[in-house]
Amino acid sequence: MRAVQVGEAGADLELVEREIPEPGRGEVRVRVHACGICHSDMFAKEGGFPGVTYPVVPGHEIAGEIDALGEGVEGWTAGRRVGVGWFGGQCGHCDPCRRGDFISCRNGVIPGITFDGGYADYVVVKASALAAIPDDLSHEDAAPLLCAGVTTYNALRHSGAAGGDLVAILGVGGLGHLGIQFAAKLGFETVAIARGTAKEELARELGARHYIDSTAQDPGKELARLGGAVVVLATVTNAAAMSATVGGLAPRGKLVIVGASMEPLEIPPAALLGGSNAIVGHASGTSKDSEDTLAFSTLTEVRPMIETVPLEEAPAAYERMMAGDARFRMVLTTGA
Ligand SMILES: [Zn+2]
Ligand SMILES: [Zn+2]
Repeated sequence: MRAVQVGEAGADLELVEREIPEPGRGEVRVRVHACGICHSDMFAKEGGFPGVTYPVVPGHEIAGEIDALGEGVEGWTAGRRVGVGWFGGQCGHCDPCRRGDFISCRNGVIPGITFDGGYADYVVVKASALAAIPDDLSHEDAAPLLCAGVTTYNALRHSGAAGGDLVAILGVGGLGHLGIQFAAKLGFETVAIARGTAKEELARELGARHYIDSTAQDPGKELARLGGAVVVLATVTNAAAMSATVGGLAPRGKLVIVGASMEPLEIPPAALLGGSNAIVGHASGTSKDSEDTLAFSTLTEVRPMIETVPLEEAPAAYERMMAGDARFRMVLTTGA
């Protein structure tokens, strides 16, 4: 089979031929049709993430069909269309798992990071990592929903916001363009916040009722003027941009962070007191959360904006994503 691997941390992506892997106990082999390219693939490409061994095949936005079942797999059949995201399955025996908190599993595995992922014709994953793909959803559209989609949808639906509440999405990019759609379809009065005016028209088409240009307006003041945001979902990686929204939270309002940034937030602690405000992170979601995301997207016609490229062109597509030029998610296709 074809696979695109990283030989060592910092090395270029390279197309190689590999043996088709066999599923072990509790695992399935998936014939990959499409795999999204995510910014977090840089953890495999550049290293620095615990548990990566090289060579590794990146890719955790995998859509395809079950091709072979290992021993002991129940509830899945060959030919079923399935997706796999960041969540690579739970161990089932650690403390969080014993409490049913699978996303917090201490022995969690990640496709394309801790084992070979979806930049390939085939991938082997734990059956507990599988999400069923609805018939009406293409593999290409399903792929980004398995990371960027579940991350934003699951954070919003668990944010405590209810229909009609003012909810702001910070960033109109790979995550944000989905976050705006989900927020609008969940019935929130949706605000999009981005730099400049170039993305305003698109943000409104995706469902934003309001648009804040953070280069011309103070996002905190503008949100406050709109009545205060019950939730701000931060999808960007710019910590200063996140910090600038806190002044616009409603009483009991929350800044929910899904953008993976290593920069420190700069928020005067006193600013959180008057409104009893909170700043929280949100992990993406389990395989069932991914399945819910795919089902909700089919039900409400939420779709990612994608650019598809053949698997062999993964190196150029990855560079395009890293340069911020993708509109908005790059998806590799195997031709299967
Ligand atoms: Zn991702
Ligand atoms: Zn566990």
